[in-house]
This record gives sequence, structure tokens and C-alpha cells, in this order.
Amino acid sequence: MSAESALSIREVTKTFPTPEGGEVRALDSVSLEVADGSFTVLLGPSGCGKTTLLRCIAGLESPDSGEIDLKGQRIDDVPVWKRRVNTVFQSYALFPHMTVAQNIAFGLEMDKLPKAQIQQKVGAALEMVRLSDLGARRPSQLSGGQQQRVALARALAKEPEVLLLDEPLSALDLKLRRGMQMELKRLQRETSITFVLVTHDQDEAMSMGDLVAVFDSGRIVQVGPPREVYLSPRTRFVADFIGEANLLEGAAAGGRIDIPGFGDVADEAMSAGSAPPQDGPVIVAVRPENVVLRPDPTGNGTIVDATFIGGDLHVEVAVGDTLLSVRQGGPGSEALAVGALVRVGFAPGSARIVEP
Ligand code: ADP
Ligand code: MG
Repeated sequence: MSAESALSIREVTKTFPTPEGGEVRALDSVSLEVADGSFTVLLGPSGCGKTTLLRCIAGLESPDSGEIDLKGQRIDDVPVWKRRVNTVFQSYALFPHMTVAQNIAFGLEMDKLPKAQIQQKVGAALEMVRLSDLGARRPSQLSGGQQQRVALARALAKEPEVLLLDEPLSALDLKLRRGMQMELKRLQRETSITFVLVTHDQDEAMSMGDLVAVFDSGRIVQVGPPREVYLSPRTRFVADFIGEANLLEGAAAGGRIDIPGFGDVADEAMSAGSAPPQDGPVIVAVRPENVVLRPDPTGNGTIVDATFIGGDLHVEVAVGDTLLSVRQGGPGSEALAVGALVRVGFAPGSARIVEP
């Protein structure tokens, strides 16, 4: 555990019994350090264990094994209400019979804060989420986006060490969601509260997180800044789940990589971070924007589809039985008509060996 960790999660495992008498391992030895004051995003497809981890942190679920520290203090045995952690759920869970201001004040009243202080904190929280004029309304008199802001204000007013957000924006339509993403970034910066946000939306994760932790079936398979996770995916799953990737199966022998239909992959095409491959089967990941197509009547590829989308040419090229996805911007793309023969290569340093 490092001194600046807000949360330190070590080898947390959680299983649930299934109705069939078996068990599902929702979390499989998950470890994660969340830096104090950071915006960390847990990203993964539905059912991979994200909510279970948040519930373990919040104390709504207890791990089978492992340890969770909040600001250096073990919290596994601390009851929910004593943990300085608040959660914002997708369903806003507001009290319908209370006004907005009463909803925000509720938790502070539970903490038995003086009235004047509660009023001041409620006012500040409303201002923070830009709802100062709507304190007297009831939740039913607000839009979905406004209700979400109230839920946020209620959580922030408690000044938690860590704010957990479980897919908080998924009920909002796309345009509102983009706006709220920026809003959440701003709130995190202004409050310096550590945010841990769960999402299955890779764009959301990439645009919001200082750090992204990618989940695959109950395990964290990669943690890093968004750019690093995109540029240097460690596994096939990460390469495929984040952005788009061509995953090419080949074989390594004596440090050379051969991909059927492509021949030997040039050394300079391989990313610098790749370790020299062991002899045997390998998977090489290449992003669509890093596939280079050169018109060539003796080429190894045939263009099977070419479509302009938003100024980029999206090309599908067949190399033997393999179909590659390619993005081409700028000049030269007019030669890439359907049926054209091309030599298919990879941009320098862009091909990466990924774990199966
Ligand atoms: P996510 O939030 O990533 O969609 P969850 O953490 O909700 O995933 O679920 C992870 C796995 O654990 C799933 O297979 C889910 O069905 C199972 N699970 C979660 N909560 C329970 C529970 N209370 N009882 C039984 N199985 C559960
Ligand atoms: Mg979930």
C-alpha cells in the first residue's frame, strides 16, 4: 500500500451460489490501488464483477477473502454507515416525498450536524450541481438528468473520502450523457474527492478516467491511463474491447513472426514494448488506423468494401481468409476501390503481441 492511496484493494475474491448448486466467482483475486484525488474508471462488459467490487468497497457485500483499505485503514469490518464512502447508483434512489433540499439534507441530519451547517452544506451542494433554484421541488418535478444531479449533490454533501458511481449515466440519453460526463469531471476536479466510476462504455471510460481498470470475467486484466491501455493492450480481450483491433493469428520461430497471408512481420512494424516472442502460436493486434494499404497488382490483399464515414475511408480488405478493418484518412484513398489489389503492411511500431 502506498501513502497516497485512497483505496487499496488486495486480492479480493467474492463468490455467489447459483440456483443450480454451483458457484459464480464474481471477483477473482482482484487487486487495485486507487490514488487519492484521482478519477478511476472500472470498465468491463456486463456481468464481469464491477458492481460486486463497488458493493464490497461500500460494505454492502463482504468479500470471501482479501483486504480493502480506505486511506490506509482496513475497512472490511467497518459497518456501511461508518465508512466514509458514498455511492451513486444508476437508479437515483431519491426519496419521492421529500424536496430536493430535504433529500440532500437527510444524510447530514442522520449525522446530527447543526442545522445552520446543514443548510450551508445543502446550499453549497446545490450550487455545485447547478440546481440552486430547484431546492424546493420534489424529484417527480425534475428531469432524469436533474434527478441524477440531486443524487450526486446528496452524495457530495457528505464529503466522502471516496465517491462510488455505478453506471450513473446509463439511464440518460446520449446527448445528456456527454454533458454529464464533462460535469462529473468538473465536480471531481473542484472537490478533489476520489471518484471511482463503473461503466461498460469504453468511450465513457476513455474520456473520463485518469486511470482505467479493465475487467474480464471477475479479474482486472489491465490498469493504466486511457492512452496506454488503448496503445498497449496486454490481452486479446483488452485490444478487442477498447477501440477496434485486427487480431491476427501467427506463429513465432527464432524471434521471427509469420502470419499466414502476410509473411514475416517486419521488425520495425512491431511495437517497441513487445517482448521477443517465444516459439509457438502468437496473436498480433493492429489498430485499423495502423494498417497501411499500397495499391499493388501483385499484392496480398483485395479490397472488399470501402465507405466514407465522417471524412475517413473505412476499408475492409481480405487477406486469404482473414478480413481486416482499415481506416484511411487523407490523399491516396481514391485508389482503394472495391476489387483493387493492395499490399497490406503495418505502420512502424504499431503491431503488438497480445496474450490470448
Ligand atoms: P457487473 O456489474 O459487471 O455487470 P456484477 O458484479 O453485477 O457484474 O455481477 C458479476 C457476477 O456475479 C454475475 O455473474 C452476476 O450474475 C453475479 N452476481 C452478482 N450479484 C449476485 C448475487 N447477489 N447473487 C448471485 N449472483 C450474483
Ligand atoms: Mg453492474
